[in-house]
Amino acid sequence: MIDLEQESKDILKAYTEMLGAAKHAKDDSVTKQRMRKAFDVAVEAHKTDRRKSGEPYIFHPIAVARICAEEIGLGATSIICALLHDTVEDTEVTLEDIVNDFGKKEALIIEGLTKISGVVDNNKSIQAENFKKILLTLSEDVRVILIKLADRLHNMRTIGSMRRDKQLKIASETLFLYAPLAHRLGLHSIKSELEDLSLQCQEPEGFAEVQKNLKKTEEVRSRFIRKFSSPIKKVLDDKGMEFEIKGRSKSIHSIWKKMQKQNVSFEEVYDLFAIRIIIDSKEEVDEKSDCWQAYSVVTDFYQPNIDRLRDWISAPKANGYESLHTTVMSPTGKWVEVQIRTRRMDDIAEKGFAAHWKYKEGGAESQFDVWISQVRELLESNDDNALDLIDDFKLNLFTDEIYVFTPNGDMKNLPTGATALDFAFAVHTQVGVNCLGVKVNDKLVPLSHQLNSGDQVEVLTSKNQKPKEDWLSFVKTHRAKTKIKSSLKEEKRIIAKVGKVHLDKELKKLKISLENISLKELQSYYKVLSELDLYYQIAMRTVDLSKLKGLEVREGVLQPKRTIIPKRVQNLFVPNKSSDSKKNKSQKPVLVIGDNMEKIDYKLASCCNPIPGNEVYGFITVTEGIKVHKTSCPNTVQLMSNYAYRIIKASWIDENDGAFLTGLKIIGIDDVGIVNSITQIISNELSVGMRSISFDSHDGMFEGRVMVLVQDTSHLTNLIANLNKVKGVKKIERTDS
Ligand code: MN
Repeated sequence: MIDLEQESKDILKAYTEMLGAAKHAKDDSVTKQRMRKAFDVAVEAHKTDRRKSGEPYIFHPIAVARICAEEIGLGATSIICALLHDTVEDTEVTLEDIVNDFGKKEALIIEGLTKISGVVDNNKSIQAENFKKILLTLSEDVRVILIKLADRLHNMRTIGSMRRDKQLKIASETLFLYAPLAHRLGLHSIKSELEDLSLQCQEPEGFAEVQKNLKKTEEVRSRFIRKFSSPIKKVLDDKGMEFEIKGRSKSIHSIWKKMQKQNVSFEEVYDLFAIRIIIDSKEEVDEKSDCWQAYSVVTDFYQPNIDRLRDWISAPKANGYESLHTTVMSPTGKWVEVQIRTRRMDDIAEKGFAAHWKYKEGGAESQFDVWISQVRELLESNDDNALDLIDDFKLNLFTDEIYVFTPNGDMKNLPTGATALDFAFAVHTQVGVNCLGVKVNDKLVPLSHQLNSGDQVEVLTSKNQKPKEDWLSFVKTHRAKTKIKSSLKEEKRIIAKVGKVHLDKELKKLKISLENISLKELQSYYKVLSELDLYYQIAMRTVDLSKLKGLEVREGVLQPKRTIIPKRVQNLFVPNKSSDSKKNKSQKPVLVIGDNMEKIDYKLASCCNPIPGNEVYGFITVTEGIKVHKTSCPNTVQLMSNYAYRIIKASWIDENDGAFLTGLKIIGIDDVGIVNSITQIISNELSVGMRSISFDSHDGMFEGRVMVLVQDTSHLTNLIANLNKVKGVKKIERTDS
C-alpha cells in the first residue's frame, strides 16, 4: 500500500529543499507566491502520474527546478517554468492557462520546452534536424535550453528505471546533442556529468573499470598533489592570500575516450590531471593581479612551458570562461597543467553563464547575444543540409577560439586556425569579397595567414577584387566558405554569358553551325567539363577560339582540317645588341617556344635531330609534351597539313647575343590585371626581351619571376623604375638565376 499522506509530506519536503537551494532568487513575497502557485498547479496537474520507478511524477519537475537553481544558478522565472515544464505536454494544462496564471514570458518558455521534446530519432539526420530546432529556440529565450538541460540531466540521473532500448537511445542523444550544448554554454560540470552518465549507460563495464581504477590510484595522485603544491602553499600563505589548491582528475568519460582513441591502458592515462589554484580575492579589481602573482609563485618553483601559457583572464572565452593555464615541469619530470583562477571565475567555469549573471547583472548578456547571432547566421544559410550544419557546428563547439582585434580595438572571436581572410568575412561579407590584402600587426600577410589570439588585423579592400577559387582551399569558417562559393558561382555565370556571345560570333564567322556539331564535341575538344565551364573559359581566354579555324565538320564530326598548310614558322624576335654585356658568358643558345618566347620543356624529335641554328617548329604531342622538329624534317608536310592546330613557333636564341640576361623577382598584391600591366611594360613599352615569366599567385599575394634581356644597366634601372609604378607592386629584387 502506498502511504499517500507520507508521500505528500515528502513532496512538500522536496519543494522546500528546492527553495532552500534557490536563495539567490528574489526573496520578495510576490515571487515566493508565484513559485508556490507554480508548485501547486504542477502538483494538481500531475497528481495521477507516476514515473517508471513508481514515485509520484511531481518529484521530477521539482528536481529539475532544483538543478536550475542550485547547479545552474537560474532565478525565479526559470524555477516556475521548470516546475511547469511537463504540464502542457503531458496534462490538461494549456498554454493559455499559463499565460493567465503566470504571464506571457513564462508561456513562451514553456512553449519552447514543449516544442523541443518533439520527435527525436536515432536516425542521424533527424537528430540533426532536431538539433537545428533546439538551436533555433536559443534565439528566443536561452532559458529554454538551460531548463531543457536540467530536465535532461535529471532524466539521465534516473535513467536506471527505464527500458534498456530507451536508455540507449536517450544516452546517445545526450552525447550527441546535450553534452556539446552544455559545453558551448559553459556548463562544464553538467557537461561532464552528462557524458559520464551516458557512458555508464552505453558501456557499463568500461565505466566501472575506469571508476574502480581511479579509486585505486587516488592515493598516489593526492600524494603527488600534496608534494607538488606544498611549496606554493607556503609562499601564498606568507603573502596572506586566501586560496584553495586541488587536483582535478579527468572525467571518466574523457579517460575512457582517450583509452579507446589511443588504444592505451588505464595506467597510461590515469595520471592526466590538472592542479587548480582557486583564489578568494578580496575585491574583484584584485583578481587579475592575484592570479598573476600565483602564476609567478608557481613558476618560481617549477619550469613553465611558455608555449602552453593560456591567458583567458585578459580575453575570456565566448562562453564566459576565465582562467590562467600554464604547464610546468614537476620534480619527477612530468608536465603538469596548473589552472589559476579566482572563486568567481571557478564558479563561472563550472556553472557557466548563469553564474555570470549572478556576479554581474546583465553583464554577460551582450556576449551571449553575439553567440546567438552567430548561431542564427549559421542556421540561416539554407542551402546546407542539416548534417553539414551539425558537423560545422560541432567543429566550432570543440575547437577553441582565438580573439583578434580590428584596428579600432573591437574584438572578434574566431575558431582556432582561422585565417586572415576568415577575419575579413567575419567583419562583413562585402569586406571579405573585396579583400585585397590583410595586415596583421602592421605587416602585410598572405590571405591564408593563420591568426593568433591578440593579433590586430586590418583588411585592405578594393572594389575590383573578387573571390578566387583557391580561397576555398584555406578558409576555415563556414561563413567564409559559403560566401565565397556563392560569389564565385555568380561571377562565373556572368562571365560565361560573355563567352557564349563570343563563341556564337566565332562560329558564325567560320560558318560552323552548332546544329551540325554538338556543344558536347566542343567541350571534349577543349577538354572542359561543362557547358558553363566552356563559356567561362572562352571568356577568360583560357581556351583558344582561334584554333576553331583549324577545324572543320567532316562526316558529321568536328575534326582538324586536312588541307591547310600554315605559314612558315616566322623568325622570332631577337633583342638588340648591346656593348654592355659582361654577364652570362655561356655560348649555348636556348630554345624558346610560342608567341611569348617562353623557355618551356621540350624534346628534340628523333626523326630529324635539330641542332642550334636550324629553322625549327614545335609540335604538341598527345603524351610527350612539345617535340621540336626541323622545318625541313620529312614529316613536316604531313604534320602541318593534318595537325596545323598543334604547331607552335619555336626558335633558337643566343643567350649571349649582346644583351645581358637577368632575373627579377616581383612581389605584390594580386590585383586584377597586374600581370598584364607588368608584361606590357616589359615587352611593349621598353622593348625589353622577356625570356621567361612565371607568376605564382597565392591567396592574394603574387610573386612573379621574370627573366629579361636588357641592353645595359641603365636600361635595367629604367625598367625597374617603371615596374615600380604598377599599382600593387610592393617590391622588386634582382636575381641572377
Ligand atoms: Mn521533464
